[in-house]
Formats: sequence, C-alpha cells, structure tokens
Amino acid sequence: MKANKMLFPYDRYAKLTEINMPVAVLTHPLALRLRESRSMANSITVRKTYTFQLYRCDKKDENLRHKIFVASTIWNHFIKLQRRYYRMTGKYISYNRMSQHVLKLRKMKRFALWQDLHSQACQNVCRRIDDGYQRFFKGLNERPPGFKKPHKYKSFTLPQKEKSYKLVDYNRNREKGNDKWTRERGIIRIDGVDYKFVQHRPIHGTIKTLTVKRDSVGRLWLFFSVAEDISIEQASTGKSGGLDFGLKTFLTDDEGRAWSHPQFFAQGLRKTRTLHRQLSHKVKGSNRYKQAKRNLATHSATVANRRRDFHFKLAHQLCDEYDIIYLEDLNLEGMKRLWGRKVSDLAFAQFVNILEWVALKRGKQVVKIDRWYPSTQTCSHCQYVNQQITLRDREWCCPACGTHHQRDHNAAKNIKTAGASVGLSERASDAGSPAHSC
Ligand SMILES: [Zn+2]
Repeated sequence: MKANKMLFPYDRYAKLTEINMPVAVLTHPLALRLRESRSMANSITVRKTYTFQLYRCDKKDENLRHKIFVASTIWNHFIKLQRRYYRMTGKYISYNRMSQHVLKLRKMKRFALWQDLHSQACQNVCRRIDDGYQRFFKGLNERPPGFKKPHKYKSFTLPQKEKSYKLVDYNRNREKGNDKWTRERGIIRIDGVDYKFVQHRPIHGTIKTLTVKRDSVGRLWLFFSVAEDISIEQASTGKSGGLDFGLKTFLTDDEGRAWSHPQFFAQGLRKTRTLHRQLSHKVKGSNRYKQAKRNLATHSATVANRRRDFHFKLAHQLCDEYDIIYLEDLNLEGMKRLWGRKVSDLAFAQFVNILEWVALKRGKQVVKIDRWYPSTQTCSHCQYVNQQITLRDREWCCPACGTHHQRDHNAAKNIKTAGASVGLSERASDAGSPAHSC
C-alpha cells in the first residue's frame, strides 16, 4: 500500500486508492472502469480494437465494396436532407428521427438499393452523421459533416453480433509461448456470404461492434471493437524520469541519454517522389493510373507501419525502466507551422498516445506538464530563467551559477522536477491544503 503511494504521487482519484492498485490508470481515455471486487483489483476494463485483414477474393469482395458504396449514398442523402431542413426551418433533425426515417425509406421502391445493407448498418450511418453534427455544435469541429464522394467513403459498421453478422469460425489460435499466437483462418458470415480472414491472435472480451473497412491500397479489413478486462502488470522499478522531445534528438531523458528517430518518411522520400512522378504521367482514371495509385498507397502504409512499430518498441523500453514518466504537453499545431514535414514524420502525438496506452497496460503512469513552462530556458541547477536562449543554442552556460548545460538534457531535468512538484501539489490540495487551492 505504502509502496503504491510512493510510486504514484500524481493521484487524482484519491477516493479509489483503497483498492490496492495504481488507480491513476483510470485517467486514460480507453479505461472504462475498474474491476470492483478486491480479488480482481489489478485488472481493468478497456475498450480496444482488434484488426484483421480479409483474404482477397475478387468475387466476394465486390459484395462488401458494394455495401460500402450503399452506405455512402445513405450518408449523402441525409446530409442533403439535413441541409434542406435547416434552410427551411432553421432546425436540426435528431438521430432518432433520422434512424426512423432511414428504415421507412429502405422499404420504398426508390431506395431499394439500401436493402443491400443491413438495417442496423444503415442506422449507423445516421449515427455517424449525428456524431459529426454534435461535435460541430460543441465547437470541437470547425465544420459540420459534408458530402463525400463514394470512393472517399470507406466503411460501414455492424453493431450487433448474431443479428447483423455471424462469426462462424474464429479464435482457433494456439499459444506459441512468449505471448505469441499461431495464425489461423477465421470465417465471418455477412448477409449469408462467408468471408475468410487472417486471425493472428484470438479475440478476448465482449465484441461490441464490427466495422468493415477498405483502405487506400484496396484491401478489406475487419475492426472488432471489444470491451475487455486486462490485467495490469505490477512490476515496478521505483524510478521516475523526465523526457524532452526535440527535433534534433527525438527524446532526451534526465540522465542525459538520447534516442534518435529513424525518420521513416525522410528515408522513403526518394521512393515517394518516384511513385508520385509515375502517377502524374498516367492518364487519370485508367487502369495504370489505379495501379500507380495503389503503389503509392502501399508505400505510405509501409512508412506508417514502420513508424508505429518503432514507437511501440520505444514505449515498451521506457516503461521497462520508469514507473512515472514526465512529459511536456507540446503545441503541435504551432510546431508544424514552423517546421513542417519533419514534425509530422516524428509524429510526437502518436508516440504520446502509444506511450500512454502501454503505460496503462503495464501499470505505469504518464504525466504531462504545462506547455507554457519554460523548460528549456530554466537552469536546472539554480532555477534562473535565461531569456537569451534561441533555437540554435544547443549548449549554454548559466549566467547566475555558471553551470554548463546541454539544451535537451537540461530541459528533461526541469520537466522531471516540474512534474514531480505538480504531483505533490495535487496531492496536497486533495488533502485540503489551503496553499494550493485555486
Ligand atoms: Zn544556474
């Protein structure tokens, strides 16, 4: 008990601390609820997605592509309806009315095409439109959802197992040891047609929804969204670390170690250029144009996969070492405007997401500190703030105490100190200390 307190000072969920586990993991958006029974205290329910690729079968795949096309016509129909209704009455059509209406229209001769898509999938299109509008009303999106060309509409969702689809054969994977599973063939039945998919790991937990998606390469994928109880590892190292992100070196920790980023996009830039050039020489809409487009999409997917793999490995490495990781909350939009492509290639935001997920699973904690904290300019030795430092200064000497600093190392040290003090002050305010009430 005492050990947990020591490891997780940044504990916003003070009430839950009586359960003997790091409850701070609940801050992660994927964490749904903590298992309540004491015996299962080290497990947590999360929402996660399993992704499997369908075997290619030109004859059958056409069915699914057709269904995605149908979903796109429903989308565009309802967007048009919403706009017309707003012009006439100044009001919005609620989700309930849309979902009733789509069922009515499906039965009409004019919309007989919509019969090809399951009724629940049709209603799910309305759900997506409603979600888009709700985000717009709350100010999260700049624009309401708009029309989509059929080739840009990529998926449909089947919400209910057994009703809208059936898993005929699945979860036949055998354990190979070392957390690895055999690859097996699964069979899913959608509207009476069996499709095979590559199952590289078993699905655990309760399946909530299934989304069928076509990617830009033309492959078809199944996305199972699942509510699953995962057990949290309890191994701890008793160490905490501050990390500083940079453009020169991707990560620097407070011990002065540095990790560079392989920059996969920059590595593949030559090939990207070649493929783009080839595409531009083809006649638009021709078969060779389509092939060139697929080649480009395949290459982009490879770059993204490599980057993701690197991020996962690094996240695991960091969680091996630290119990608490302090980071700076970055202003990515501003950085993108300044430095462009390189920031996108490093993909800080993706890395932070992955790091938070890995930390959640392994019972570790990621703490972000305020983005306006001058971590680079502050001297980690005497706290003097040196305003003279520019982006070019990789090293500097503190004018107050004379300490020589390496830019990123110094920032990482400051981030760790700031993060630890944030954790302490939060705990003090939880205990009712007047000094920190604001
Ligand atoms: Zn100093």
